[in-house]
Amino acid sequence: MKEPRALPAPGPLPDERGALFLWVRRGVPLAAAAIAFAGAALHAAGRGWWMLAGVGALAAAWPSFLRGGAFLRNRTAILRQDSLWANALRPLARWLGHEDDWILSFCGHNNQRVREVFGGRRAKRALILLPHCIQMSRCKAGILDDLQACYDCGLCPVGDYMNAALLNRWEGRISNRSHKAYREAREYRPDIIVAVSCTDRLLKGLTRLPEIPSYVIPLSLAHGMCVDTDFSVPHLFAAMETLVQPLPRASNIQPLVREA
Ligand code: SF4
Repeated sequence: MKEPRALPAPGPLPDERGALFLWVRRGVPLAAAAIAFAGAALHAAGRGWWMLAGVGALAAAWPSFLRGGAFLRNRTAILRQDSLWANALRPLARWLGHEDDWILSFCGHNNQRVREVFGGRRAKRALILLPHCIQMSRCKAGILDDLQACYDCGLCPVGDYMNAALLNRWEGRISNRSHKAYREAREYRPDIIVAVSCTDRLLKGLTRLPEIPSYVIPLSLAHGMCVDTDFSVPHLFAAMETLVQPLPRASNIQPLVREA
């Protein structure tokens, strides 16, 4: 039997960049609460209304403090609220020329909390979601129907993913439609999703699937949207190794080597 080829080493998970989103998400309601309580102190006639506004602002800030088990238990409501903030301020970020930074910060903040949950107690059931545009556009291999149709030529990340998925017995889907990926994720009911996509779809995915904790990895779009996209394969491997309980390796399974 042929020796399986060496795959990229996972390495450590990179630091998450969620500070911008967290500052806005937590800072704006806290500042509003401070103003409202100051208003209550200074404006006796409308004190009740000011107090009400202050308490409402504190309630809006509260979910941003929930971490670990509290985040996991309340994840649907927390993600819904965080997504509202991310989507509401997206036009402003676009106008300021920092739309991607804003969305990536939202994703980074989400990833940080997911890492806190599963870093200590790894998920048992994981689903990997990948977009079809990672397949080289000239390639005719029918990987949507059968991942092992890939010839493992090394020209796109699919070959590395296929080898790792077979070896580690990972469950994954490569989809060309977001709604199909969401439907399959709901049907599979994983403890965690590890998803790769462009920033727009990552925001959409976190907004549409708030009930499933998701660790998200952005695509790099060197050739534009939806064409020959790429992502850090070691980052995906690191996420799976850090956040998901390993299954016994399939030492005697390797992909059929097809001739291109
Ligand atoms: S690794 Fe090669 S054969 Fe496999 S999907 Fe990518 S381009 Fe096609």
